[in-house]
Amino acid sequence: MSAAIDGELTAKEEQDLLTHLDECAECRAEYQDARNTKVILRERIVRVQAPQTLMDSIINMSIMT
Ligand SMILES: [Zn+2]
Repeated sequence: MSAAIDGELTAKEEQDLLTHLDECAECRAEYQDARNTKVILRERIVRVQAPQTLMDSIINMSIMT
């Protein structure tokens, strides 16, 4: 499952997976759940990369030292 979410599947493998997901509600739910988590994680990483408060702290620290 994680390989598909990380985009590491070949086109053929992805097609097979999508075909299976169409037929299998259990895997479809798991797949969508994992995808949602991944998107949320990615959004968090983007936000955390350079939060303004952290930048301010770094600037304040370098002014004080
Ligand atoms: Zn299944």
